[in-house]
Amino acid sequence: MKTTTRVAIIGGGVVGASVLYHLTKLGWSDVMLLERSELTSGSTWHAAGGFHTLNGDTNMAALQGYTIRLYKELEEITGMSCGLHHVGGVTLADNQDRFDMLLAERAKHRFMGLETEIVSPEEIKKIAPVTNIDGIVGGLYDPLDGHLDPSGTTHAYAKAARMGGATIHTHTMVVETNQRPDGTWDVVTDKGTIHAEHVVNAGGLWAREVGAMAGIYFPLHPMEHQYLVTEDVPMIVDMMTDGQEHPHVMDPAGESYLRQEGRGLCIGFYEQTCRPWAIDGTPWSFGQDLLQDDFDKIEDSINFAYKRFPDLEKAGVKNVIHGPFTFAPDGNPLVGPIPGVRNYWSACGVMAGFSQGGGVGLMLAQWMVEGECERDVMAMDVARFGDWISPGYTLPKVIENYQKRFSVSYPNEELPAARPNRTTPMYDVFSRMGAVWGQQFGLEVVNYFATGDEPTFETPSFRRSDAFDATAREVAGVRSAVGINEVHNFGKYLIKGAGARAWLDRIMAGRIPQLGRLSLTPMLSEKGKLIGDFTVSCLSEEEFQLTASYGAQAFHMRWFLQHQDDSVSIENITDKRNGFQIAGPRARDVLAACTLSDISDMKFMDVRKITIGMTDCIVQRVSYTGDLGYEMYCDPMGQRALWNTLWAEGQKHDMVPFGMRAMMSLRLDKFFGSWMAEFSPDYTAAETGMDRFISFKKNTAFIGRAAAEAERDAGAARQLVSFEVDATDADVQGYEPIWLDGDVVGFCTSGGYSHHAGKSIAFGFLPTDRVAEGLAVEIEILGHMRAARVVTTPLFDADGARMRG
Ligand SMILES: Cc1cc2nc3c(=O)[nH]c(=O)nc-3n(C[C@H](O)[C@H](O)[C@H](O)COP(=O)(O)OP(=O)(O)OC[C@H]3O[C@@H](n4cnc5c(N)ncnc54)[C@H](O)[C@@H]3O)c2cc1C
Repeated sequence: MKTTTRVAIIGGGVVGASVLYHLTKLGWSDVMLLERSELTSGSTWHAAGGFHTLNGDTNMAALQGYTIRLYKELEEITGMSCGLHHVGGVTLADNQDRFDMLLAERAKHRFMGLETEIVSPEEIKKIAPVTNIDGIVGGLYDPLDGHLDPSGTTHAYAKAARMGGATIHTHTMVVETNQRPDGTWDVVTDKGTIHAEHVVNAGGLWAREVGAMAGIYFPLHPMEHQYLVTEDVPMIVDMMTDGQEHPHVMDPAGESYLRQEGRGLCIGFYEQTCRPWAIDGTPWSFGQDLLQDDFDKIEDSINFAYKRFPDLEKAGVKNVIHGPFTFAPDGNPLVGPIPGVRNYWSACGVMAGFSQGGGVGLMLAQWMVEGECERDVMAMDVARFGDWISPGYTLPKVIENYQKRFSVSYPNEELPAARPNRTTPMYDVFSRMGAVWGQQFGLEVVNYFATGDEPTFETPSFRRSDAFDATAREVAGVRSAVGINEVHNFGKYLIKGAGARAWLDRIMAGRIPQLGRLSLTPMLSEKGKLIGDFTVSCLSEEEFQLTASYGAQAFHMRWFLQHQDDSVSIENITDKRNGFQIAGPRARDVLAACTLSDISDMKFMDVRKITIGMTDCIVQRVSYTGDLGYEMYCDPMGQRALWNTLWAEGQKHDMVPFGMRAMMSLRLDKFFGSWMAEFSPDYTAAETGMDRFISFKKNTAFIGRAAAEAERDAGAARQLVSFEVDATDADVQGYEPIWLDGDVVGFCTSGGYSHHAGKSIAFGFLPTDRVAEGLAVEIEILGHMRAARVVTTPLFDADGARMRG
């Protein structure tokens, strides 16, 4: 066995094998896979082998499409069979909400190039005759759906990787991973130690145990899962005689997936009465084993399935497969470099290895070989969870995710498990004031305050929700007087040291402000992709406070630490500095009355240290509401005192507390983009208009400069624009197609209802050469074409007089 390698992948399931193959595909041949038993010895060997493209996240769906198309390539390269059955599949909808979700998915598929199709109940009966269509509203047909041979496919990946120079050692158990001071790893196995530059954890069912060898907690948990294979089903036998194969049928109402297996059927369930497995850790003694059959657990699901697929009941059960596989808290994979740990990569938490394994392998290989992925992978980035995550949070979230696997996911839905988790000193105060809470990166965030007979629970919906009136009231309160909410859900960082300014100049593309001032700046990757939009405030020549998206904390800290040098200290102070923002025409009056400092000369984008009441604060004159506003940051120990001061004074100025629903409406008035909607690593600064904050004048080789300059010279092919939409009861949420002259020419990034202007607003990309004020387009919302027009003049304070005045 070789004792050195560039990459040691731990785990020979479908995911490890895919990563190995993709590394060779991108040119790294000195790569090695270590498997403690035979290949496929975790969840992989007993998988049902189904694959599909449907995923709530657009990038995940695209990667699932890539995975499915890859199998043919693998077969061609290796001459091996993956046992492919491209039989297509239909997802059923038995009510309007489920159908709305399918309509929204179909619309997204239009610009993704996926040929899915909305089908009627009658068409479903023709396509998938085992289905009883009673109560079915419609369905979504995807010709790409199908199934394969899990073992054959894993071995095909392995062979393709070997052909590219990789080595695979089976019956080689990794027992330790020890990092050397230079960041490389000693991977200790029962056959000897391998010195590897990089380690990839693809340990599947044992990913937690493999991670623990390096002191890393991986937020995932195995769940038990069961599927049945029947004896011959006469209808299937007849179809086979006619040379046909029955397609897959996903029945979300019954939480089941069904397909043909041989001359019978195979059906699996995501039952509500589900059970986590191996809570205290996966035993090393578990191998190519199955769990005891458990029909009691799936009794309700089976009974439902007998009604939806009556032929099932007529066939005896031939085989039961009951095995464990792992989930992350949100059901998406955990991929990428571990924040704060050099050269350690994650490829685990993959709950649908045959839909996602190829995409996971490709993205991880791009990340390792090329330094970044071709697309935004936040949905599966291991950094989407922070260091606040714990097994106590992961377990209930994983159970919730399993139970909701086939549920409708609403854009405004707040999932209840593992909450409240992280709260600020305001939690009880705001709860008493009627706060209706949401959750962001583990943190409780007020969505809106319910007063009078406003609903204390926001009903999940694809349409305008029942929080509409409360949101309108809060927006009016901000625009007419003054609103207050917390600044807890900003990510905050402190950059200190003699080299702070120079370091920031290199990391950020924009201008770094002078003492007492703020600036807005994009942060770019080497390839010029947007990886952050920051507010930088200069507190002293050697101390800068940065604010950005709360949910991107681990993502941003990982980047900062990767680029840290000895001249700066970098601290994530997100939860150490808290406070409020006040916004609206009377915000200045409130602040002035609460402090002895003279703030009359405090200009837009100024930052100052001010004592408010008893509390020392850093005050920034800026507001995401687009109004006259101030953000006040303090030690959380002083936050309640700060609240008492501001709220007592606020009463004299008709102050209203407001939540995120109002905030997201207010930002529409000024066409302010939002992180992970308008601004994400899928887009560049020039495409989104963020290039206006790039300082090409500064004499620094900031990261991404070459790419940004090239784009400045060539011009961006597409451009982010704002639309007024003739919507009825549903506004744009994101990824709706934009039609022009009968063709899909772009897609939306986000949208909503501007309560201030009384208009439905959307943001989206159009080809640059088509952009023109007033251009009439159509936006497809929930299957309906809505007329929309390009607008360039903000709906509120167009000349900035209020914000800057
Ligand atoms: C009943 C059931 C049905 C399923 N059906 C489907 C389906 O239809 N479609 C689909 O896409 N997915 C399905 N899945 C999920 C699918 O099986 C998983 O997504 C996939 O197998 C995960 O692969 P993996 O490589 O991440 O992990 P695993 O398959 O668990 O592989 C991990 C490997 O790492 C090895 N390993 C661990 N620790 C060490 C160590 N210390 N040293 C060396 N080697 C180590 C293990 O031996 C194992 O071989 C199903 C799962 C179950 C349980």
